[in-house]
Amino acid sequence: MPTHTGHHFLQIPGPTNVPDRVLRAMDRPVIDHRGQEFAQLGAEVLEGVKSIFKTKGPVVMYPASGSGAWEAAIVNTLSPGDRVLMFETGHFSNLWRDIAVRHGLVVDYVPGDWRRGVQPEDAEHRLKEDKQRAIKAVMVVHNETSTGVASRIAEIRKAMDRAQHPSLLMVDTISSLGSMDYRHDEWGVDVTVGGSQKGLMLPPGLSFNAISEKALAANKSAKMGRYYWDWQEMLKPNRSGFFPYTPATNLLWGLREALAMLHEEGLDNVFQRHNRHATATRAAVEAWGLEVWCEEPKEYSSSLTAVAMPLGHDADKLREIILEAFDMSLGTGLAKLGGKVFRIGHLGHFNDLMLAGTLSGVEMGLKLAKVPHKAGGINAALERLAASRQQIANHSPLAEAALR
Ligand SMILES: *Cc1c(COP(=O)(O)O)cnc(C)c1O
Repeated sequence: MPTHTGHHFLQIPGPTNVPDRVLRAMDRPVIDHRGQEFAQLGAEVLEGVKSIFKTKGPVVMYPASGSGAWEAAIVNTLSPGDRVLMFETGHFSNLWRDIAVRHGLVVDYVPGDWRRGVQPEDAEHRLKEDKQRAIKAVMVVHNETSTGVASRIAEIRKAMDRAQHPSLLMVDTISSLGSMDYRHDEWGVDVTVGGSQKGLMLPPGLSFNAISEKALAANKSAKMGRYYWDWQEMLKPNRSGFFPYTPATNLLWGLREALAMLHEEGLDNVFQRHNRHATATRAAVEAWGLEVWCEEPKEYSSSLTAVAMPLGHDADKLREIILEAFDMSLGTGLAKLGGKVFRIGHLGHFNDLMLAGTLSGVEMGLKLAKVPHKAGGINAALERLAASRQQIANHSPLAEAALR
């Protein structure tokens, strides 16, 4: 093993780099989760996290990875034998489908080629065809982390409304929350599933369900067995800042700090930053003469970019060379994309120079792995970054003051 110096570059699309501020906030003795000090923390984060989902309704938090919150969304709202409508966007939609099937749901799974997001017209058509109103939930992955393709949730909502279908809408935002624009209330989402270790800049171990009134009503008649995931068990103690079982206490200190950081920057600025970094990354990929896996510009992800490897070259070999030479981790191709794509995570605690370093590592890696490509990717990215920086500066109070 070569010795590495300086920081490791963790450029996988989650878990992401955890800011020192968050690490420091968690570096404290564990406290009694039945005591008043905890209740204050619990109440503060349970209320504060709503702003990230853009909801006024309840958000429950589980000491679990994102998959737990997927399962929670299902067992709290549905009964065995219910029909649900899902869309194949990639590896993560497949996994969510598997959980649904395991729980006895009948899944209408709309096939996809993993290079496009959910087509709102598809959803509208399927729902209109469902004359019996048998479909109880439409379940969508907002940002498909295996492909770097985002689905347009607001448009899917409109399509559901056009079909005048009463189905619930459930959305997985595990790799978009806190990185890409998302509005639980405004978009009429019934259950939003989130996780801690991606845009929220926390270590793995916390996950979320944001819950609409309609989902709460469905919860009353949902017959799936549940205990650990039961919203009612959670919501009762949550009212006074407590949890029904031992919460991930120190992650909650971290969450408090991460929420403060997101709001100091301003959510719109956070989204703009992710857009800039995604745009600059695609400029580099294009200049290298490589292909961005996502086929539709309207569906580009802002939190990661999946890059197609030229035929005859193994993406994992490239990743291995980059890890060894430059101490940078890139995302592997998942399931059927194994070896075919590598994924650059540019989400969470990240800035222009970290992106410049990341892309430099990729470009040098392409050279070392003898992957055919053109030079100039870095320059293309830096020019994009500088130009968008200039645009921001032109609109900043400082620039405005200078004009006066
Ligand atoms: C990471 C991820 C998951 C899985 O979350 P875990 O925390 O690994 O259980 C699910 N969906 C999406 C879109 C993800 O990015």
